[in-house]
Parts: sequence; structure tokens; C-alpha cells
Amino acid sequence: MDRTKSWLGADYNAYVDNSNEQPDSGTVLETILVVDDDSKMLQSVKDLLECYGYHCLTASNGQQALQQLNSNPTIDLLILDLNMPDVDGHDILKQISHSDTAPDVIVVSGEASFDRATQVLRHGVHDYLRKPYLPEDLIHAIERVSTKRRMERKVHAMHQRLLNSEQRHRFIVNNSPDIIYMLDSNGCFSFVNERIKSLLGYEPEELVGCHFSKLIHKDDREKAEHSFSERRTGARASHNIEFRLLHKNADNNHRYFESHSITIELSAMGVYAESEQPRKGFIGTYGVIRDISERKRAEELVNFQLYHDLLTKLPNRALFRDRLKQAIAHAKRNQSQLAVMYLDMDRFKIINDSLGHLVGDQLLQTVAVKLRSCLRDSDTLARVGGDEFNLLLPNINSEQDATIIATKILREIEKPMVLEGIEVFISFSIGIAVYPQDGETIDSLIKHADTAMYHVKEHGKKNFEFYDASMKTKHTRHLSLESGLRKALDQDELRVEYQPQVDIDSGNVTGVEALIRWEHPENGLIPPSEFIPLTEETGLITDMGRWLLDSACATIKHWAAQGLPEVTLAVNVSARELMQSDFTDYVINTLKHHNLPGHMLELEITENVLMRDMEQSVHKLKKLAAYGIRIAVDDFGTGYSSLSYLQNLPLNTLKIDRSFIADIGSGNDSNTIIYAIVAMAKGLDLNLVAEGVENEDQLKFLKKIGCPTVQGYLTGHPSPSDEVWSTFSKAAI
Ligand code: C2E
Ligand code: MG
Ligand code: MG
Repeated sequence: MDRTKSWLGADYNAYVDNSNEQPDSGTVLETILVVDDDSKMLQSVKDLLECYGYHCLTASNGQQALQQLNSNPTIDLLILDLNMPDVDGHDILKQISHSDTAPDVIVVSGEASFDRATQVLRHGVHDYLRKPYLPEDLIHAIERVSTKRRMERKVHAMHQRLLNSEQRHRFIVNNSPDIIYMLDSNGCFSFVNERIKSLLGYEPEELVGCHFSKLIHKDDREKAEHSFSERRTGARASHNIEFRLLHKNADNNHRYFESHSITIELSAMGVYAESEQPRKGFIGTYGVIRDISERKRAEELVNFQLYHDLLTKLPNRALFRDRLKQAIAHAKRNQSQLAVMYLDMDRFKIINDSLGHLVGDQLLQTVAVKLRSCLRDSDTLARVGGDEFNLLLPNINSEQDATIIATKILREIEKPMVLEGIEVFISFSIGIAVYPQDGETIDSLIKHADTAMYHVKEHGKKNFEFYDASMKTKHTRHLSLESGLRKALDQDELRVEYQPQVDIDSGNVTGVEALIRWEHPENGLIPPSEFIPLTEETGLITDMGRWLLDSACATIKHWAAQGLPEVTLAVNVSARELMQSDFTDYVINTLKHHNLPGHMLELEITENVLMRDMEQSVHKLKKLAAYGIRIAVDDFGTGYSSLSYLQNLPLNTLKIDRSFIADIGSGNDSNTIIYAIVAMAKGLDLNLVAEGVENEDQLKFLKKIGCPTVQGYLTGHPSPSDEVWSTFSKAAI
């Protein structure tokens, strides 16, 4: 296969033609044809030339000369007598004057007239010698032809090299994956490569002469204008910006690009220069524009997921705190006021429990829309808990402004909502704190709004109140949890408990699941379900997860040193952890640090987390699997339950969610579902763990249908590392 043709899918040969690039060597005169009707003369010239090493042919009349010229393309010099009978020298000159490949001609003639000489020289004759002439004169004339030919050949070769170089560069430029362009000093395109066509639908020619702003999204124009029009020089001559460019054929259809450009100036020599001195002046901009749409979209998605509540699409706690921080800084500078509201839905739990989670979710979505409709774009409404919202009014003139908004919200929310055909009535309790009088920091403002909200709850709900220092309340739950968590990591309040996973046939422990515990100094043991969501929102989960993995690995090593059986360590991984770019590296490095092989670690990931960003998940899990690390789908059956994704992932284990196990024997569909999961795991050659096995009946059923592994209170509660083996009850099996 011709490699040059396949490269980049473009035909390099179509651009660059090397065939006529000649080397600058070899003889410049190959064959000389001497034409004279005087045979003596003919012979003596031939002898003379051969003596000088030239290859020589002869013709004794015009007819013969023409025949030789036609049949021998190597003749490159003609020594021509003008006066011959029949076809004379003039006739020959006329005949060859139209040919591109005509040889050079030296005319020898007895004619002495000046007119005659100029006439033949006008026919392109190279030299004119008058008979009789000295042999050296002829040799000199031939050398002059040689010199001229040598020069011509050099010029031709140089021209050819230039042409090839130009073609090569054109090829490189036009086949670049990026858009390459030049703007003149007015900001109009003077060049743009062919890539523009596939990315934005323009032919390069139609843009030449157009101002660059024609392509730029209106919201990015000012930024681009500023960047391009600044005629920066020297070290600051290059600049990079990101902007959106518009596609020719569709309104508002744009892509994201990153432009690297340099200012071009002409040097005093009149050639393009970047920085050397002296210069003649700015002539425009040269740049490369890269399509970063895919990257942008991925970033946007990840950012959205990190900073938004996925159910209502509202900002989450982390984004709210960030906005509040900015608003406080702004208010401080401008000596203005702002308000923070804590909104808590009254009786949400009752609605959620009686109408089901789906209706509960719908209700939250509808409420989010209603709340937003009461606000301005500059206000931030965030969902910070199940039925709790925070609101930031960044610029108020007085408490009166906040009163108006709170009243508006209460009225709007009062109106009944119809969900699944049922009329639902809800209300809110709202607490308000105002900067600066009720607090000057993020934490104090939220805390005081929360305190005011609880005051409303305790005094009949469905109302709003401003914070007052006299409101002494125990309810600073939200804040204490968040700031407490930050401290928990530093102050050693976190623990790991291990729960055995037991082989149903042999009764041996094959693995342990590591479960995080928070021993709060005042509130006692806090279950993970209460703080994991908060650590995910605040990003603390990353540090916490890393701490847990490290401690659990150390425990496994410690057990091995005590001669206890080798077990697989199962560790839960949250969405935010999996999204971290260095997640895989961190996990692998931790194993290496503890000198543990990959197969001893099993990462438990729920279906929903896996599905969130399938592409990323597959990529990362494959990398982990390549290291031998095992992957389990946690809480299997409660998420997407889509079989198709299972095939794409390097999975080892499915963990049947404990809700199915709890239902065993209850007469509903659970048994059938468990049957199906067991069959599927067998089909896909996956290990299967039943979670939450609490009693003998469940165990018996699972054994009967061939579920290989169980985990639950029956065989062992989660316990501290030094109690796992003593509390494990093999007898249960
Ligand atoms: P999970 O991964 O499904 O963990 C199993 C949960 O079931 C544990 O709850 C465990 O204590 C409980 N359990 C075990 N056997 C029984 C039983 O027989 N009956 C009942 N009713 N429950 C049983 P836990 O420890 O409260 O953890 C809850 C969830 O919190 C875990 O569910 C996991 O998703 C998450 N979690 C726990 N530790 C971590 C951690 O270190 N990192 C992350 N990202 N998540 C964690
Ligand atoms: Mg788990
Ligand atoms: Mg589970």
C-alpha cells in the first residue's frame, strides 16, 4: 500500500509532485550537431569538438539537419551554417523557433553584415561567429552556452524546490485537524485553511476579506475583539482565548474553540517576523483554532453534576455556598445588604410516604419551578436536602424586600398542585437572616436562617420569620453536621467496620465489606446514610474515601500477619469519587503502598453511578480491572437494571439489594426477581452476593436456588477490625 496516500486520509501525492525535481549535476551539453555544407569545414569542427571531449554529430545540409533534430532529442546545441543550398540556416531557425525543447544555437556565417547578425540573434540564437573564426572563439562560444545552461538548470531546480516546498506546506496546513488562519491589520481574513469547511461549513475563499467577528458568537465578540485588536508585541505577542464560533448553515448552531494566535509583523527585510528587531510594523494575526466542543460539553456535564441537584436541576449546597461567598464580598465592598432564606417544606414526609417516592419526586420538581417563578435571575435558589431549600437574595435595600419575596413564595406555594390526579396541598416554613446584622459569614448566615426557620416550625409553620438573637435553639443540625464532618476527618472521629461475606456452601468468610462509621463526640454513632450524601455534596467524600481505603488495606495486612484467612476487601465508591481524574491512580498506588495484589480489592459501585457517565466509567474500570481489581455492582436491581451495560463493563460480582432479600417469602415478586438475578449471574459468569440476610428462611431459600455468597446480620454484623473474627458466626450456615 502507498503509505503517503493513506496518511490522514488525504492524498499527499496529489499535492506534492517530486517527479521533476532534478539533481544539479551531470553534463550540461550532451550532443552537439554541426551543420555545414562545406565538408572540410564540417570535419575540422567535429575533430576540434571531439578533441575537447564533446559528443558530436554532423549534417551536411539543412534537410539532414532537420531529420537529425527530429529523431535525436539529446541534441542540445546546434552549430549552424547560415548559407546552404535548398534548406538553409534561416529555414532551420524558423522551424525550431516554435519548439519548447529547441537546442541552443551558435550561428557561423560568412556574412559580415550587422543587420544579418542581429536578425538571427533575434530568432533566439545564442551567439554569432563570422567565418573565418579562430577555433578558440568557437570553444569560448560553446563554453558560454554551457555556463548559461548551467545557470538555467540551477534556477529551474530552485524553482522546483520552492514549488514542492509550497505544496508540502499547503498540504500540511490544509490537512491540519485545526483551523489555521491569518488576519490582516484590520482583522479581516487573508487566509484560512480548508478545515473551516468541515467544522463551520464555509469555503475558505468566501471568508477571505471578511471580518473575523462574522464567525464569533455574539456573547464572545467583545472578548475576541479585545484580544485581537490589542497589538501586543514582544513577549506578549502570543495570546490564547476560548470562544464559540457560529456554523454557516444554522442559526445559533455553534461549537467551542480555543484559539492560539500570535501577532505578525514585517521585519525590516520585508519578511514575516515574530520578535526580532528592527520591525516595519504590525500587519496582522496568525493563529490556530482547535475545536474543544467535546471537552467543553464533558466539563459542563461534570460541573453540572457536581454543583446541581439532579432531580430539580437547582444548584446544590456547594454552589449555593460559593454564590453566597461572592455575594458577601460584593455586599462588603458596596456596604449593601443581602438576605439568606432557609425554606423547609411542611409535611413533606407524610406526602412522600403516603403517595410514594415517584410522586414525592414530582412534587419536589413542581415546587422548584414554582419557587423559581417568584424570583429574579440574579437570585440563587438551591436544594440542600430532601425537602429543604436555601435562597440567596444578593442585593436588598431593606428587610422589606425580603418580606415581599417570602410572602410571594408562601402565596404561590399555597395554591393546590395536582399530581397523578390527586390534589396536593403543601406549605413552607421560612427563616431569614440578613447581612450584615444577622451574620457576616457564610456559616453564620445559614445557621441563623436555619434557626429562624425552626422557630417558625415550632410556632405553627406556614410562615416566615427574621432571625432574632433571642431565638435560642438547639436546631443547628445542618451546619453542625457539615462543619462537624470537616473536623471528623482531622480529629479521628471516623471508624471502619467490616462485615463478613460468607460462602454459602462451606461457611467460610471469603470477603469483608468496609463500612464507614462516624463516632460523633456528642451525638454518638451517626449512620452513613445521614452523612454520605453531605460529604458527596461538599466534596469531602474524596478525602474520606481515601482515608477509608488506606485504613482498610492496613487492616487486611494486619490480619494476614496474624495468620487469619485471606479475604477480599470490598469498598464502596461514590459518584464523586469515581469522577475524580486521579481515582484509578490513587487506588492502584494505595494497593502498591500496602503491597496488596489487585484481586484482593473489590470496588462496589451502584448502577446509577455507573450509568451517570458510562464512557468514563468503562474507561476507568477497565484500567482498574487490568490491574486485577474486582468490580461489584452494589444494590443491584434497584437502579437502571439495564442488562446491556453489564456486557460493556469488566464486572466480577453482583450484590442483590437487601430489599429483595427482606421480601423473601412475602409472596410478592421478589422471589421471581432473585431467581432471575441468580440465572443471569450464572449466565454472565459473575459472583453473586445476597445483601441483608437476616434469618434462616432467607438463607435456606438462597441456598436452594444456588446463590453462592451471603452478607447480613445472620452471619455477622458490621464490626470493628478486632472483633470481626470473634463475632463471625459460622454456625449460622
Ligand atoms: P451498602 O454498600 O449497600 O452497605 C450495606 C448496608 O447494609 C450497610 O449499611 C450494612 O450495615 C447494612 N446491612 C448489612 N447487613 C444487614 C442486614 O442483615 N440487615 C439490614 N437491614 N442491613 C444490613 P450502612 O453501613 O448503614 O451503609 C449504608 C450505605 O452507605 C452503604 O450501603 C453504602 O452505600 C454507604 N457507605 C457505607 N460506607 C461507605 C463508604 O466508606 N464509602 C461510600 N462511598 N459509601 C459508604
Ligand atoms: Mg456496599
Ligand atoms: Mg448494598
